[in-house]
Amino acid sequence: MKKFDVIIIGAGPSGMVVGTTIKMQNPEKSVLMIKEEDKGLVPCGIPYVFNRLATVDKNVMGTKPFSDISGTVIVDPAVDADLAKKTVTCKSGDTYAFDKLIFATGSTPIIPTFIPGYDLDGVQYIRKSYSYIKQLKDKTDEAKNIVIVGGGFIGAEVAEEIASNADKTVSLIESQPYCFNRAFSGELSRIATDKLRETRVNVHTSTLVKEVSGENGKVTGVKLDNGKHIKADIVIMSIGYKPNTDVARKAGLELNAEGAIVVDNFERTSVKDVCAIGDCSQTKGFITGRTDNIMLASTATAEARVLGYNLFGVIIKRCFVGTLGVFSTEINGLSMAAAGVNENNGREGNIKFISSEFSDFNTHPAGFSDTSKLTVKLYASPSDGSILGGEVWGGKSVGEIINIIGLAIQKRVTIFELVSYQIGTHPLLTSPPTKYVLIKAAEGLINKLKAIA
Ligand SMILES: Cc1cc2nc3c(=O)[nH]c(=O)nc-3n(C[C@H](O)[C@H](O)[C@H](O)COP(=O)(O)OP(=O)(O)OC[C@H]3O[C@@H](n4cnc5c(N)ncnc54)[C@H](O)[C@@H]3O)c2cc1C
Repeated sequence: MKKFDVIIIGAGPSGMVVGTTIKMQNPEKSVLMIKEEDKGLVPCGIPYVFNRLATVDKNVMGTKPFSDISGTVIVDPAVDADLAKKTVTCKSGDTYAFDKLIFATGSTPIIPTFIPGYDLDGVQYIRKSYSYIKQLKDKTDEAKNIVIVGGGFIGAEVAEEIASNADKTVSLIESQPYCFNRAFSGELSRIATDKLRETRVNVHTSTLVKEVSGENGKVTGVKLDNGKHIKADIVIMSIGYKPNTDVARKAGLELNAEGAIVVDNFERTSVKDVCAIGDCSQTKGFITGRTDNIMLASTATAEARVLGYNLFGVIIKRCFVGTLGVFSTEINGLSMAAAGVNENNGREGNIKFISSEFSDFNTHPAGFSDTSKLTVKLYASPSDGSILGGEVWGGKSVGEIINIIGLAIQKRVTIFELVSYQIGTHPLLTSPPTKYVLIKAAEGLINKLKAIA
């Protein structure tokens, strides 16, 4: 039986980053990565294969960066792990021995078995699988009427992309008053939902799918709780993901209530030499301290780096101190992002906060052809002014501004520090130094604090 210093099960973003980090830090160690499918996908790029990328093959993610530094890759799904004997057995029957084992098995879509008709032919999911998405793309290309159930960022991004094709009627059904409500505050969820409504997507909010209807075993539409029936050739269920932990469960690892593998701050399970990262592992809120199972590629790869550097002895003392959850998306040309606390999750987590927002243009002066309005909403602690969260919307720079806010939250920067930090500005690239939007939002918070002091 072949033995490896490390076996990684899974070759998604977390598997790839942990594999390359381990090999770069420890070139002498033998590392095996076990995959289910030959070709992998960039998971976050999946919505764009339905329009902007045009083909699934423009969205593949390979294992070359890992193989290039002499990592070993096999395509043969792992079916069993014997943690006492320290072996992993694959579907083919081949067994490999390990010194250290890493679960990076990701997540799979939630199947709504509670909706009658969920098992009809034509009910589809956004699976992170090359072969599945390839056949889904063919099916959506053929279909005329498509219903998407779930208005989170994945359902909304997929809906907008498919609806860019004028031949198709796309309807999106969301049970809450606004889409994106799990990631954004009420204010930003409403702005995002309004932006989505301006596209060709028919958005139905505050509406539940009661049943998927069909004939001869095939989908014909969905019945809604308001009595309406929407015709559909395909129904795409996008109601969330669950940790993919079947092999871990069989192996006897401890799972939390949501089925995620329980890990400590260095991503170690309670079994020596067995670790878990990414969507299959438990996350705890950076500010709430509660288990929250955030599933993001950015979080998964941060965990992978923490584990990759520290697997053979802690060399980066900063362990994984909690999940912030930094979301970003773009709908109908409006970029939107959120990090940490907002009005929804803050109230739910019983976190005291004050908030303030400021808008200006993202160039100075504002008259350039690509100028757009930029808004920053900051959330801070009323006790010490430390930044707890932020939301940003406007042009493309939003995707990076939220990362600055994410860093500020993690470094516990206060609004007093933020207003005195030195920044760089340029007419074509940023809002003006006199009204730098992030700093003006922090000033708004200082004024609020003064008012309640
Ligand atoms: C459509 C879509 C858009 C998204 N957009 C964003 C975004 O914009 N930003 C963001 O941060 N996040 C985004 N996400 C979330 C992000 O994709 C996930 O958080 C990320 O994929 C998690 O990486 P992972 O490696 O933990 O798991 P996964 O990507 O799920 O990878 C797990 C891998 O393990 C393999 N595997 C599972 N079981 C076995 C087994 N038994 N044997 C061998 N291999 C196995 C699977 O085949 C898979 O390749 C998006 C997700 C989707 C679906």
